[in-house]
Order: sequence, then C-alpha cells, then structure tokens
Amino acid sequence: MNQLASRTKMTSQTGLEDLIPDITGDIISFAGGLPDPEQFPNQAITESYQRVLRDNGLDALQYHNAKGYRPLREKLAAQLNQENYGITADEIILTQGAQQGLDLVAKLLLNKGDNIVVEAPTYTGALAAFAAYEPTYSELPMEMDGPDLTQLNKILLTQKIKFIYVIPNFQNPTGIVMSLAKRQRLIELANRYHVIILEDDPYHYLRFSGENLPSLKSLDTEGRVISLGSFSKILAPGLRLGWLLADPELLTQIRYLKDGTDLESPELTQQVVADYLEHHDFKQHLANLRADYKQKRNWMMTALDKYLPAGFEYSHPDGGFFLWLKGPANLDFDKILRERMAPTEHILYVPSVNLYASKSVYNGARISYAAPDEATIDYGIHRLSDVLRDELRQ
Ligand code: PMP
Repeated sequence: MNQLASRTKMTSQTGLEDLIPDITGDIISFAGGLPDPEQFPNQAITESYQRVLRDNGLDALQYHNAKGYRPLREKLAAQLNQENYGITADEIILTQGAQQGLDLVAKLLLNKGDNIVVEAPTYTGALAAFAAYEPTYSELPMEMDGPDLTQLNKILLTQKIKFIYVIPNFQNPTGIVMSLAKRQRLIELANRYHVIILEDDPYHYLRFSGENLPSLKSLDTEGRVISLGSFSKILAPGLRLGWLLADPELLTQIRYLKDGTDLESPELTQQVVADYLEHHDFKQHLANLRADYKQKRNWMMTALDKYLPAGFEYSHPDGGFFLWLKGPANLDFDKILRERMAPTEHILYVPSVNLYASKSVYNGARISYAAPDEATIDYGIHRLSDVLRDELRQ
C-alpha cells in the first residue's frame, strides 16, 4: 500500500510470527522471553486490586499525570538508592513496560538517518522500537565480558552517534554480563564524546549466581545515562509497568512525549503494584524467582551437556532468561528452524539472523529456559541436538 509511512518497513520482533500459525498441535518454545507463569503472584495481586478499588477506587480510576503514581516512584527511588543510583522520585517516569521506554527514548533523540550504536546481537524488540524512527546502526560485537569497546572507540572517533544502547545484565539474547571494567570504560567514552547511553536493565533483579555489579546509571557522573527497568520479569508482564530514569532536563522532554503517546500509564495498575510492594514480601518473591530460574538454567545446561554434538558452544548465564548457542560457521539456524524444527519438531528458538541489526550472522540461536519445565527442556534439547547432529553430517 503506497499510503504507508516509510517507518512501516521495520521487521517483526522475532521473525517467528509467520511460523506459528502453520503449526498445529503443541509447541515447545525456547523462543519467547516469557517468564515462568507458575511464579506469578496471582493471589497477592488479586488482593491488591481488591484493596485499591475498595479503599481508593475513585482516585485510582481517575486521570492523573504522565510521570506516574508518586508513592510508587518514591518506593522505586528508595529501592534503587540502596544500590547508589542517587535519584529522587522526580527523576522517574512510570512507563508501560521497558518497551515503551525504548520507544520514548528513540522518539526523543532520533531524526531519520541518525546513527546509533547497538550490541551485536541485541534485543529484537529494541530494533523494532528504534526502526520506527529510521536510524542507521553501528554494531559492537559481544565478547565474553560485554560489548567490544575498542570497536566503540573507533566508531566514536569517526562518526556522530546519537546514543549507545546496551543491556548490561544477562543480555538479551546472549545472557552475558558487562564487566565492571567495561562499565567504567563505557561511561568514560560516553563522557569524552558527549554521547547518551541507553541502559536497558529488565533482568536486574534476576541474578542467581555471582555478585551484582553497579548499574551504568549509578556510575554516571554527567547525567548521560537513561536507564530502563521493568516489573515484567519480576511480577508479571501483563501489568505492563516499567520505569525510566533520566536526568531532570531529559525527563521533562520525555514526559511531554509520553503525554502525546498515552497521557499516562494505567493509574489503577500503578496503585496496585504500590499496594503489592507495601503488603507483600517482595524480597522473598525475588528470592523465589532467582531459585526457580537458577534451577531452570541448570536443567538447560544439563540437557545441552548431555545431548549437544561436538562443534557447538553455549554461554553460561548467571541470571536472566537466555543462553546463546553457537554452532560451526556454516550452520544456518534460521534455515533449520524453518525447514525442520518448526514444521516437523514443533520446537522453536530465535535464530541469530533476527537478532543482529545487520542481519548478517546465521550460526547462533537464543534459547530461553524461563518458561518450560524440566521434562520439556530435556525433550526439546534432545530433539534439537539430534537435528543439529544430522545437519552437521549433510
Ligand atoms: N528490554 C529487554 C532487553 C527485554 O528482554 C524486554 C522483554 N523481553 C523488554 C525490554 C521489554 O519488556 P517490558 O516492556 O515487558 O518491560
């Protein structure tokens, strides 16, 4: 249709939407970033809805403002300041998930054709959000300790960059954590070249082994880090509630943009989440989540060790939902998914080609262990491994 704006040329989020309708019967999905539904605090959230509607219903059902429910912003500020974020409630906007934060930041900073730096691979949903503002990309290959900052230095020397988008904790899709040295270096480079950093951190509270590292926002000395968080992975994605932290000047502009987008995030949900945090043991809930995801990660690694043929390697995440599977250079995970895994095995993962801004790498796959149970992980990885072994022979 020639009426469509050029921004609609963006690709779909995972590139898998076209595969799913063709499959009849049960699907084993290692593809989605879905949290474990067994962990949703359904009962507690029901109680919070009831209490908010009973005790403060008329206010919770009214219009308010784009920054969001102040008591929740205050709780968040107090929580984050335990990790030296050094922020006030006035430096927080409550968004509809971290996803809206990605959109708002792109809307704030990008003119058509502007260049941004992203990790390679990166989160497809971010590429989808940015694509609507028609940027061009420079990529930083992921190393074991985070993105290649030597490459970043080279890029910053020669090009004008609007912002650098990174996922420092349990990166989606690789599961990699950015080292402290790289966090410090990244801040240094951003300061030197006057660039904004967009820190996307929805897995922040899901570390199940090792020590927490300081966030980029807490290391920021010049107000150049915009940081995104979310309740999706730690309460439930259906709440569609996240947060955006930014320097007051930037935050005012972002607030105007959010006004134009949706006026505000749903007030009722914000009050419910504040009530939940007030009345329930959130620390214990987070501890339960970490134990659950650690166990799932272990099931996944056990299955991979048991079944995977020689020639493959995978990342060992210390938190989050994902691990990264890498095969021999000539292996095409996208082709294998489309020709065999999806139609015959009904097993899905996200092939690497969808996860690179340059769409240039085929021999990797993102595997999520967050939602399936032990037997499903074992069966699915067994079948995937058999197919990969067979492919290697051809
Ligand atoms: N950023 C990253 C890195 C993610 O993995 C996700 C969810 N898959 C999001 C942002 C969006 O999350 P939400 O909008 O549900 O907070």
